[in-house]
Amino acid sequence: MHSIAEPEIMWGLGLDPETAALVEQAAGPGYLLRNISPEAFGWMRGVEETPRVAWIPWTSWRALSRAKQREAKSDGTLRRVLLLDASDPEMEPEQALEQGFITALRAPHTRFALRDTVLRLRELGALTTDLRRKTDEIALERELLTRKTNHLGFLNRIISRASASLDTATILTKARTDLASLLPLTSLSAVFWAREPDAPGLLTDIYMNSLAAPPESDIWTETLLDAARKLGGASVSEVRQHTLTPSRHLRQVPSPQAGRLLMLPLSSGGETFGCLALSTSESLRLGKDQVQTLNAAVNHLALALRNAHLFRQVKSLADRDGLTRIANRRSFEERLESETVRHARYNQPLALIMVDVDHFKRVNDTCGHQAGDAVLREVASLLCDSLRSTDFPARYGGEEFAIVLPHTPREHAVLLAERIRERVAARCFLRGEVLPVVQEGCKEGDGLKLTVSVGVAALEPGLVGSDLVALADQALYLAKNGGRDCVMVAHSGETDCADTSRELPARERSTALLEDPSEDSDSPLAVAVGAGVCHVGSIG
Ligand code: GH3
Ligand code: MG
Ligand code: MG
Repeated sequence: MHSIAEPEIMWGLGLDPETAALVEQAAGPGYLLRNISPEAFGWMRGVEETPRVAWIPWTSWRALSRAKQREAKSDGTLRRVLLLDASDPEMEPEQALEQGFITALRAPHTRFALRDTVLRLRELGALTTDLRRKTDEIALERELLTRKTNHLGFLNRIISRASASLDTATILTKARTDLASLLPLTSLSAVFWAREPDAPGLLTDIYMNSLAAPPESDIWTETLLDAARKLGGASVSEVRQHTLTPSRHLRQVPSPQAGRLLMLPLSSGGETFGCLALSTSESLRLGKDQVQTLNAAVNHLALALRNAHLFRQVKSLADRDGLTRIANRRSFEERLESETVRHARYNQPLALIMVDVDHFKRVNDTCGHQAGDAVLREVASLLCDSLRSTDFPARYGGEEFAIVLPHTPREHAVLLAERIRERVAARCFLRGEVLPVVQEGCKEGDGLKLTVSVGVAALEPGLVGSDLVALADQALYLAKNGGRDCVMVAHSGETDCADTSRELPARERSTALLEDPSEDSDSPLAVAVGAGVCHVGSIG
């Protein structure tokens, strides 16, 4: 009840003129009394300025309908003072309070009594304002607390879901779902990079939705590689593409130019190792607390993604052969197993090639183990250079290599096997090195000529991965027995080698190049090698 510039409105409900004048006097300047008829009570509200106080004689109150009384009682902002005449019934203060009056004043309504009431009303007004402000503050704090709880709940969810996996694609797929509850996400993709000591630039891994197709996928790749170049501070020397399973809600992958693109660097331990690319709607406007939540989420995601990256590196070391750096036998077996399952599900052809270096023991015996090691590394790199990116070469053991060929029918595997055999035979290994032996017809530094024997097998109905290995191995065994430097192809269920054989154009027999003191031979070692492909049946 402060009088500032505008006078505060009070209502009198059918006050007699004398009492009305007394109330006005008691209230003093800053208050304006509107004495209205009891019938007007109710509909006056909202038409006139809203009063905070109503002076109501008992007779006026009694004359009001029950509905109007109820309405007056439920109005929490209107403070009512009950004025009782000498002839009005006795009323205890509690009864007046029960009716929702602030107080009841019995006649005579002296100026002093009215003034006292006005002062109490003012005090009450100040208390109410104070209380209301406090209530507003509490409501605001509750709102902030709710937001904080939501924020923490969101972070908690994103952290626990991200750290539950060590697989980058799984972490990103879950993060996509979680981040979609924070902003209107239309796609999520990511790039990670690392520097390897002998690589000329960054080795990058790109993750994007499997539904992305050209030209969008090319634009995405370029956008992500650009981020890697800028944030990684170097050119990109290798790109590995990975796919994320599409979200149920996002069936299309927009181009980076559509909508708004948020590029969020991923750092851990002071090093930036990747970048998240979030596509959102053009109209996105993030509030300050949303930006904070997003930053916190990305920082936590960075930790989980870093762990996944380190895990991948360790796993990659464990999966690789230390000498040749291609897959080892354990990861070959894992891969063969998963490819056989895929073969069974999608009925795609699957072939296997086994390659064994001929007379490799002599390389060790003649040139030493280190030279032997170097030859094995060269053979591995020759194999890698001869294959598609989907083929999977591995060191099966010793001087023996295995190549899993997904989506490859037997005939194609045979052509590839023959190409490998030819490339080995045409190559000079350890070229430029001083070797303890110089082969006949060669001069110092020309290196060594070597050959390989190759066994080929293809998966057929009813066979499992280990059958495929056994078939290829037996074909290889036959290649060895057949004179080495040749390719043998296994056919399960067929018995006649001659019936199914397909000879490649005959090649001149070549002569082995190393001298073997242990061999029963009177001339420099002459190992006859028959070149070509023979199909053999009924193996295994
Ligand atoms: P074949 O034509 O019948 O295959 O004759 P081979 O001499 O190639 O085969 P053998 O099984 O008699 O000998 C394989 C040799 O490969 C014996 C082994 O010392 C050598 N070897 C296996 N692993 C390594 C390796 O990691 N480094 C080196 N330098 N030699 C190895
Ligand atoms: Mg060998
Ligand atoms: Mg061998």
